[in-house]
Amino acid sequence: MRAVALASGSTGNSTLLQWEGGSLLIDAGISARRVRTMLRAEGTELSDLAAILITHDHSDHISGLQVLLRQCACPVYAMPGTAKMLRAVLREHESRFQAASPEGLCLSDASVTPIPTMHDASESCGWRVQTPEGVFGLCTDLGVVTEEVIEGLCGADLALIESNHDVDMLLHGPYPPYLKRRIRSEFGHLSNEDAAQLAVTLCANGTRSLILGHISRHNNTPAKALGTVSAALREALPELLQPELVAAPECGPLSVEVKVSAPCSL
Ligand SMILES: [Zn+2]
Ligand SMILES: [Zn+2]
Repeated sequence: MRAVALASGSTGNSTLLQWEGGSLLIDAGISARRVRTMLRAEGTELSDLAAILITHDHSDHISGLQVLLRQCACPVYAMPGTAKMLRAVLREHESRFQAASPEGLCLSDASVTPIPTMHDASESCGWRVQTPEGVFGLCTDLGVVTEEVIEGLCGADLALIESNHDVDMLLHGPYPPYLKRRIRSEFGHLSNEDAAQLAVTLCANGTRSLILGHISRHNNTPAKALGTVSAALREALPELLQPELVAAPECGPLSVEVKVSAPCSL
């Protein structure tokens, strides 16, 4: 199983998940042309995608979707509120949007489950994808880490989680006060410290590879995000073999592979 962060951050988000039995795209916040080109470089065509999963309807997650849907035939899954919003906004593709049930769905030989999240969008979520080669979890744009998020990600072999901002950089940075408040609220984004806590919980439950994503260009650096999370992991879990920890660049690709599936704890 391999996750490829094609792009990550406030200028666009899209992640490809590949395994022997299929492939999925999560979010389409970059141009269709970029998605197509980057997929091809990874040995995948748009026609190979079993589905596109959408986390929420902010433009950095869906800006390329309209054109992308003209070029491929796969269904698009999202939480009911997001699916409804997308049907209304992208009317030419109305029939393509499916509401994902909380119990999840089967796509190819994988089972896919939405993870409800707190964020200021119609109805946002992360995704858990269980493949025969391991479990992948993705949660970005998290105002707060809820029990549902922990439950949804726990046992993932490979996870992409948000590490959006360094609190000092945000507080002393260029954003206007209302935007700083929004980012720090429970409907905004996770700080590096929040991400570190989540990383400790996940790694204590078997996660072996972590990708830090949605790193702010103005209020964070990949080095600060990696430094905060790796220090927390070393301190909280000194006895554990430290997981693979990488930062997704704003413009990818960044590819992380999990070779041997581990037993799932949930
Ligand atoms: Zn976003
Ligand atoms: Zn968002």
